[in-house]
Amino acid sequence: MKGMFGSILPLPRFIKSSPEEGKPIMRRNSSAWQKSRWVWPRHGSVLGLLFGLFLGLLLGVAPSTIAAAAAPACPANVLGVEREIVLGTKGGFALGVKSYPQTLDLADHEVVLTFDDGPSPATTPIVLKALAKQCVRATFFLIGRNAAAYPALVRRELAAGHTLGHHTFSHPAKTLRLMSDAAARADIDKGFAADDKAAYGPPTAKATTPRVPFFRFPGFADTPRLDAWLASRNIGIFGADLWASDWRPMTPRAELKLTLARLEKEKRGILLLHDTRRSTALMLPKLLVALKKRGFHIVDIVPGPGAPPKFQQALKGWRSETAAILAKVLPRMEKAMSLKRKRSRRRIQAPIAPEMPEPRHQRVMAGHDGQG
Ligand SMILES: [Zn+2]
Repeated sequence: MKGMFGSILPLPRFIKSSPEEGKPIMRRNSSAWQKSRWVWPRHGSVLGLLFGLFLGLLLGVAPSTIAAAAAPACPANVLGVEREIVLGTKGGFALGVKSYPQTLDLADHEVVLTFDDGPSPATTPIVLKALAKQCVRATFFLIGRNAAAYPALVRRELAAGHTLGHHTFSHPAKTLRLMSDAAARADIDKGFAADDKAAYGPPTAKATTPRVPFFRFPGFADTPRLDAWLASRNIGIFGADLWASDWRPMTPRAELKLTLARLEKEKRGILLLHDTRRSTALMLPKLLVALKKRGFHIVDIVPGPGAPPKFQQALKGWRSETAAILAKVLPRMEKAMSLKRKRSRRRIQAPIAPEMPEPRHQRVMAGHDGQG
């Protein structure tokens, strides 16, 4: 465990799971509609409908309601979801080898799709359509401000069976690491509340943890204190194993090529994408078709009770790539922030400040120009 924080970052306590507790559920060849406890046959729309009608008559529920729930079935030639991993978060965890020395126990050619920063009305619907067409489920790490602005999109993600993780309320440009601990915690909690309200409606009681205790730091800029605080609240931290670098402007074609090359190299992993990026939304249909063709399988992650499952440990000599990036970027950012503070102090002291800039309008669409 080397790298900038390798020797000083106390990773959240990892509780090794018992054989039964937190064991990943193996559901090979399951379809996107087999997420809930109601498991329909993959090609069983007719059987499902008949069973639905029977159940409807038995329970006195309108047959149309049952039929609507039973109707969709995935064609045989789509990518689909190979299996689901149920992740207990008791005691917390931090995974994703770009930042942490462990990751999900994925087999060769298994991929977890994750999308950060949404929802966005311009691009998220395109992403959802592409995922639905291939019967694929993903995890969306929502920005609270965007969730509050577009709750219908959050509910669409939920209705399609995707997992809703969290990514702060405001996605602060300076990252949580350069904020005070109290301010960072407040932004994280505000994000949890906004995401959950958008997805599930106002809470009935004062909720202390989000419904889905999955969190990703903007720019992967965690701190040991925040990591420990999240672990104490049984919240799992997600980094990534590979990314599409879609924060950089590029054509959908270039992004597709880059992503596939990285997937072929790494062979598996948690892939970070952004559903707010147009290039990502436009290349996604082709990416999913290519994944199917090249023998990749999609793994869905959902929260569960108990301790986390067994994770894969990084190889000897592992280094945190994001720590190295942040070590270069953050000092420059800190310097720019300090200069800005000095300038604004000078302006406040001046009796007339004609050069004072217009107040910055708060953008509805929060996001970032860096990774994560
Ligand atoms: Zn982000």
